[in-house]
Amino acid sequence: MKFNRIEDMDLDGKVVLTRVDLNVPTDDGKVTDTTRIDKIVPTVRAIQDAGGKVVLMAHFDRPKGKRVDGMSLEQIQPALEAALEQKVTFASEAVGGPAKRAVAAMQPGDVVLLENTRFYPGEESNDPTFAASLAALGEIYVNDAFSAAHRAHASTEGLAQLLPSAAGKLMEAELDALNAALGDPVRPVVAVVGGAKVSTKLDLLSNLIEKVDHLVIGGGMANTFLVAQGIEVGKSLAERDMAGTANDILAKAGETGCTIHLPTDVVVAREFKEGAASETVPADACPPDAMILDAGSETVQAISDVFASSKTLIWNGPLGAFEIAPFDNATNAAAQEAARLTREDKLTSVAGGGDTVAALNKAGVAGDFTFISTAGGAFLEWMEGKDLPGVAALADGRQ
Ligand code: ADP
Ligand code: MG
Repeated sequence: MKFNRIEDMDLDGKVVLTRVDLNVPTDDGKVTDTTRIDKIVPTVRAIQDAGGKVVLMAHFDRPKGKRVDGMSLEQIQPALEAALEQKVTFASEAVGGPAKRAVAAMQPGDVVLLENTRFYPGEESNDPTFAASLAALGEIYVNDAFSAAHRAHASTEGLAQLLPSAAGKLMEAELDALNAALGDPVRPVVAVVGGAKVSTKLDLLSNLIEKVDHLVIGGGMANTFLVAQGIEVGKSLAERDMAGTANDILAKAGETGCTIHLPTDVVVAREFKEGAASETVPADACPPDAMILDAGSETVQAISDVFASSKTLIWNGPLGAFEIAPFDNATNAAAQEAARLTREDKLTSVAGGGDTVAALNKAGVAGDFTFISTAGGAFLEWMEGKDLPGVAALADGRQ
């Protein structure tokens, strides 16, 4: 996919309307985790280095089109100033007089933060009039909020129709990583899909079997595939009503030439709690009163072998109930193997998903993967092969 990068644009002396993700966790008006704020710093710096004036637009929480006390972006201003190490002017409205006055007073390098875009009904309805009021404030549009790109809102999609547009640094990193994983990957490609349920990942599985060479299925959803093959899984989490769907996926994979890898041995326990007694048994030998909570070591070895013979890995969903030891063993071991191959330049590894990011952090490998997406829903929709409106609008944007 082609899109403009900040370096492609002439930003000298221009007002750059920059959509970022500032939807950070707060407690009593104080930011408790600055990860998202820290991640926008390179984009702000790049615009400043090019001589631009940075006007930040973002949503916060779900005010549903009206001003809501406690959801003002003003509470983010101090954390933003700390991350940028400079003064940030807050505009008490995202459009109209206060916004115009704040922008008119800017010098190159200055940063203005506009009020929560979701205080205005035109944001989520992508109203052209609201988009035009935002566009009137600046000259160039930079979108750095991949995490909001699955929504066609005025600040994520509408503005790209009205102004010359480019991807910010974070958006650029996401798009480059996603393209390397599924858009135009070096083959063979292996996908790992784990997590709890088949029903929440049907679109994902259907898309992946058309695009990847190997699909490793793990976690609770593997149990559903075992059931579909007539295997008893005792008290395991399994969606028995999805057995037909699981068989359809297996059949379709046969047609598309995608090899599916299911667990051949599993870790079972009678209780899901820290220190519960567990044992490894063949995948078709789960005792009737036990549940499958992780993949066994033989399965992990098979997964490692697939990784070693692949050039690209895309991963969503843990291989077991990783929150409680020892059921994080398979996820940790496979993650460490992927990290090792990535460090040795043998594998491009991309992962995403709420629990997946937590599991990879827990495994201590987050820094070793080629890219870990924190975009949540947008990442999943992209993995499902869906068009993201915010990304599509950036494609072939004017300069
Ligand atoms: P993500 O948020 O990365 O998309 P999911 O939400 O789909 O991932 O799946 C994560 C959840 O799946 C975790 O809470 C984990 O405990 C659960 N899980 C994984 N394997 C099993 C299993 N064998 N039995 C029960 N739950 C499992
Ligand atoms: Mg989850």
